[in-house]
Amino acid sequence: MITLKDVNKTYFGAVPLHVLHDINLHIGRGELVSIMGASGSGKSTLLNILGILDSYDSGEYWLDGHLIRNLGENRAAETRNRLIGFVFQSFNLIGYKDAVDNVALPLFYQGVGRRKRRQMAMEQLDRLGLADRAHHLPGELSGGQKQRVALARALITNPSIILADEPTGALDSTTSKEVMQIFRELNADLGKTIVIVTHDPGVGAQTNRVIRIVDGRIEQQ
Ligand code: ADP
Ligand code: MG
Repeated sequence: MITLKDVNKTYFGAVPLHVLHDINLHIGRGELVSIMGASGSGKSTLLNILGILDSYDSGEYWLDGHLIRNLGENRAAETRNRLIGFVFQSFNLIGYKDAVDNVALPLFYQGVGRRKRRQMAMEQLDRLGLADRAHHLPGELSGGQKQRVALARALITNPSIILADEPTGALDSTTSKEVMQIFRELNADLGKTIVIVTHDPGVGAQTNRVIRIVDGRIEQQ
């Protein structure tokens, strides 16, 4: 599903920063893996490359059998929208839209009509146990509820891959376990390929494989 061969990435700021060094990585269809490393080790950079949100300088990234390289914004967006759902530490919900409208948003960009969008979003919220929160604004929800809304939004387009950047980073330990349980169910029951970036060993322990990154290098397993 995901293969990186000798991928390198440098941020060319005032002082160039070589953040990813010869990354080799394979993540198979239906895997539940975590990428663990300290703050600043390059986890988010790596996840953004996997999500075609950022480019890389050398090497190859193969996603679902296609070489991801210089796609251009339209094809990158098309590939992302078709294959990938994103979840972030800070939820990235729109504050003035209620839960159902937040979840329905990706369908708007796919040209799905309003009635159908809302119906599908309600179903997705219901599946994640949030039907009774559908008309609440993000500010009226707990952290765990917000992350479940964000998960519903990630799932609404039925992506085969979910990429999550520190999804439990803003949650207490009990809520963190609940959210991790949802990831485990999405993997076990729906066969989603799930990649979770975290610095929390407790989160890593709830995935089926831990990939360690140190100073932009994958540790030999
Ligand atoms: P992590 O997610 O593991 O904390 P990041 O991938 O966010 O690590 O960052 C890795 C390194 O790259 C850090 O030193 C960070 O400051 C730097 N960095 C991240 N994004 C940028 C950017 N857009 N421009 C320049 N440097 C960046
Ligand atoms: Mg990060």
